[in-house]
Amino acid sequence: MEKIYVTKSYLPPREDFFKYVSEIFDNCILTNEGPFSKLLTEKIRYFLNVDNFSYVTNGTIALQLALKSLNISNGEVITTPFSYVATVSSILWERCKPVFVDIECENFTIDPDKIEEKITEKTQAIMPVHVFGYACNVKKIEEIAKKYNLNVIYDAAHTFGSKYKGHSLCSYGDISTLSFHATKLFHTIEGGGCIVNDRETFEKLELMKRFGHVGDNHIMLGINAKQDEFNAAMGLANLEHIGEIVAERKRISELYDFLLEGKLRRPKKQEGLEYNYAYYPVLFESEKELLAAFERLARINVYPRRYFYPSLNILPYIEKTDQCPVSEDISSRIACFPLYVGLKYAIVRNICEVL
Ligand SMILES: *Cc1c(COP(=O)(O)O)cnc(C)c1O
Repeated sequence: MEKIYVTKSYLPPREDFFKYVSEIFDNCILTNEGPFSKLLTEKIRYFLNVDNFSYVTNGTIALQLALKSLNISNGEVITTPFSYVATVSSILWERCKPVFVDIECENFTIDPDKIEEKITEKTQAIMPVHVFGYACNVKKIEEIAKKYNLNVIYDAAHTFGSKYKGHSLCSYGDISTLSFHATKLFHTIEGGGCIVNDRETFEKLELMKRFGHVGDNHIMLGINAKQDEFNAAMGLANLEHIGEIVAERKRISELYDFLLEGKLRRPKKQEGLEYNYAYYPVLFESEKELLAAFERLARINVYPRRYFYPSLNILPYIEKTDQCPVSEDISSRIACFPLYVGLKYAIVRNICEVL
């Protein structure tokens, strides 16, 4: 029997992808910002309705470029412990110290009322995460950032297609970053992006992503984060189906909602959020109940994922200075259920029955 995991990569119809690949074989342009990476950049910019979008090789380098282009280094960055490890590893890799602020228990995003007490003279930025595609309290975070003159970088890896108060959820902050990894709702196999609000910072980031030089003119220290044409081709093929992808994920999520009604706790959707159905997180009463449910589900070959676990403030290579009881508690008893295009409704019914 087929094993069911939390996600399965979306693949477009073969012809959609192959028609682009065939063009690559004709023109022999494989990378260095060829026609497909340019076209995809434009299409994403249009889809998200943002001014400045940079397409890069993955969501982690997107975070690192965001920090670098805003000159954030050797300081403290306030962030959330409830995320994928890349949020905090990007901070550490750029030689900054992550300072963890606990999360809200309603939607698992950073608790804005606990940010100010963690600000010191070394604080340079705030890096919140719109976790599972739910919106952070962007208004309060912006007020705090203004008051203390801090940059805000949103890890918006889960937000593609989510809108908040009429704007793309990834259009807030100084920079928002996206991941287009194969497991994400919209993907380019590997890939990522930066939405940059200030034009000058955007141009700097674009220069940094291609080694910091233009021809023989070496302007600043750079790195290689250029995306290639095959990945861009996958993105172009997938983007044509984004409407169906979100619609199908919505149908599956609503089926779970209907079958599980009142049985398990779910994050609360903010007023004004048009959700993208990126994940289907459920909160169990206790870790013990979660583990018991996992055992029962394994018997029908279903393997949900403990997302996000453990709480990042207790990673072995991190100074254990910040206690985050809410995040540690939520991490211990939250799971994401299978949700992807192609998941059979009968399996969703089986899952809910077993629970
Ligand atoms: C997936 C993810 C990333 C990393 O993206 P990659 O493209 O895999 O490097 C960063 N942050 C969050 C919250 C993610 O889920």
